[in-house]
Amino acid sequence: MNNDLEALLALQADDVVIHGLDARLESLEPRIRELDLRRARLTDALARSASAVADEEKKQAWVRDKIAEHKALIERNASQLDAVTNMKMATAATAQMDQAKAIVVAEEGDLVVINRKLDELRAVLDTQQRELATLAAAQEAVRGEVAAERAEIDGALAVARASRARAAEAVPASLRSKYDRIRVRRQPEAVFAMNGYCCGACDTAIPMQRRHSMSTTGAIDVCEGCGVLMYFPS
Ligand SMILES: [Zn+2]
Repeated sequence: MNNDLEALLALQADDVVIHGLDARLESLEPRIRELDLRRARLTDALARSASAVADEEKKQAWVRDKIAEHKALIERNASQLDAVTNMKMATAATAQMDQAKAIVVAEEGDLVVINRKLDELRAVLDTQQRELATLAAAQEAVRGEVAAERAEIDGALAVARASRARAAEAVPASLRSKYDRIRVRRQPEAVFAMNGYCCGACDTAIPMQRRHSMSTTGAIDVCEGCGVLMYFPS
């Protein structure tokens, strides 16, 4: 294997390592985003539940007030009844009282329904609050893991980039710029060993003349099929 090829393959080996590390870095983001999304959804649901509880509590307070109001009215009617002296007034007061009692019965029925609904809504809210606490703890743990992983990858990247810089120096400038240009559109590898008589990347057959020159001089050539750099494996 000639020296240029050896240097080029060393450079590519470093680039493949860097490419893998970059991919690992990119895969960290979705892990955090996923949890953020779940948390936002849960927070929204929780806000809706809290507002439903507040609405129902308002209804409950309103019905309780009404019941107290109507019970007071009944008491007033009862004391008026004690004070009345004629039958006509007594009948009227009794009728009024009966009406108020019927209203209270209906309102107490409403209150039972409201209380039951409120219990259910509060149970939902409670569950959601516990879920959110669990999710927040999980999120904290994942953030910690991701931060540790990112630090590790950053460290490895620094080492790989330093190694790449050294490897790049050993590759002749014209070959290196050819390689870099190919890598812009082709990741992670731009250099391929020939596979028999064909390009190792796209399988295009290479004419005998070029093949011969590559095998005898160790020249690195560009594939006309897919544009990668090819070499004849020794
Ligand atoms: Zn090719």
